[in-house]
Amino acid sequence: MSRVCMFCGRKTRVGNTIARRGLAKAKGGIGLKTTGISRRTFKPNVQNVRAMVGGSMVRVRVCARCIKSGAIAKGRGARKITG
Ligand SMILES: [Zn+2]
Repeated sequence: MSRVCMFCGRKTRVGNTIARRGLAKAKGGIGLKTTGISRRTFKPNVQNVRAMVGGSMVRVRVCARCIKSGAIAKGRGARKITG
């Protein structure tokens, strides 16, 4: 099963990691020089939680942002999907 939030659909995205050397101009240096660019992945913080879905308790994979936002509200020993 892939790392996808079952609530908002957030999943792994790709971006760049940029390697730099030197001292920033703001810190008195001559500026940062880029020495390399490589691809990287940004993974969502997906957690397995027990939630009430349609009246039954099931394990769902949801991201931490959805849990914090209250979309997955805490219940008695479980969590409840309200949104
Ligand atoms: Zn989510």
